[in-house]
Amino acid sequence: MKKIKSYLECISCSKKYYIFDPRYTCTCGDLLDVKRDLSEINGKKLVKKWEERWGMKSGVLSSGVWRYKELIIDVDKEKIITKQEGNTRLYPSGLAGIYAGIPKLLLKHEGENPSGSFKDRGMTAGVTVANILDSKMVACASTGNTSASMAAYASKAGFKSVIFIPSGKIAYGKLAQALAYGGKTLQIEGNFDDAMELVQKVCSELDIYLLNSINPFRIEGQKAICFEVLQQLDWKVPDWFIIPGGNLGNNSALSKALMELYELGIITKIPRIAVIQAAGANPLYRMWKNKTAYKAVKNPDTIATAIKIGNPVSWKKSLRGIEWSNGVVEEVTEQEIMDAKAMVDKAGIGAEPASCCVVAGAKKLVEAGVIDKKASAVGILTGNILKDPDAVINYHMDRLKEVGINGSYKNIPIQIPADIQAVKTALSNY
Ligand SMILES: *Cc1c(COP(=O)(O)O)cnc(C)c1O
Ligand SMILES: [Zn+2]
Repeated sequence: MKKIKSYLECISCSKKYYIFDPRYTCTCGDLLDVKRDLSEINGKKLVKKWEERWGMKSGVLSSGVWRYKELIIDVDKEKIITKQEGNTRLYPSGLAGIYAGIPKLLLKHEGENPSGSFKDRGMTAGVTVANILDSKMVACASTGNTSASMAAYASKAGFKSVIFIPSGKIAYGKLAQALAYGGKTLQIEGNFDDAMELVQKVCSELDIYLLNSINPFRIEGQKAICFEVLQQLDWKVPDWFIIPGGNLGNNSALSKALMELYELGIITKIPRIAVIQAAGANPLYRMWKNKTAYKAVKNPDTIATAIKIGNPVSWKKSLRGIEWSNGVVEEVTEQEIMDAKAMVDKAGIGAEPASCCVVAGAKKLVEAGVIDKKASAVGILTGNILKDPDAVINYHMDRLKEVGINGSYKNIPIQIPADIQAVKTALSNY
């Protein structure tokens, strides 16, 4: 198959640029999309190729991103920086689906990626482009997972990485990874949105390659979540995709992937997308619900630190996809997030707080009659349970009262003397 021609295109003024033009936004200031000419591509043949690659034991194409390389970045294999990301499991939701009132819910566990979040899928694409551009230094602003992922991929590639994180309230597992993988970590006095603004200035002035999801190649890599889910379902499209929304890159990638598959005739049904935001960081929800103009949320706050973002970079791309898919936006409270998390965890699956917005949001949408309880749905669990052990322990020890969260489904460790009678007593009502 011939390589697919691709280029960058502005989402608002449609100005086009060379595919590897090292820029993140248009001269008009808006975001860029990777576009490709799919008119001569045979969707059936493409799927056949992807099926042949399924289960490859080694090499670049065994990655759950690069398996779909034709619709990611069609580059020579030697340029690709990969950690064989993706290939994550799609679980029946068990207890979590019953709790949400939608037993057919499946959960795609992106926390099973090499650095423990879906960010690895966008990062392998972004770092590969850095490699193509011969950049030796990369940077990002991060609530944690982007930095953990970037530091790991940069080290793999032999690049330097610079991380801008908000001061305080970054989950410990994520900070630990960033430091361990060797990223130069700069803690900014301010929140994520401040860090995001700063890193953009720094990258343009110091000629560092920016790897936030404003970078259109991050979005391309993240499309692979959708491709892989559908391949796991033998290309049968579920009624719904449910996904948390922070900076809004991931749901933008999801809808873009669906649009391309639809254009190629690989799918003929368009699933509806439900984006779930935390009530304390809900600019997209407010806009969608009230049909008002976009307005950033000042001082966003939520225990789901991965989505504690008040001024999401990709809101326009996100809205475009939600409208295209006849989707919805929902918000969930802190209590709803942590109770849903208790269910995801107790189901034996486990994920970090932001991921569990999926189940909390599903429950609300089922109760409101928006999602039918018999519907088929795929929720994206974005990050690993071990990313934020503090959130888990504090919930189960009922130490979140001061932030208004009850340990409704708590599981408190019991201290006992080392004798058999004490054990019997402790187990008497278990
Ligand atoms: C980054 C992240 C999100 C939010 O994704 P966006 O693309 O920023 O909307 C959600 N959950 C986890 C665990 C994340 O790391
Ligand atoms: Zn433009």
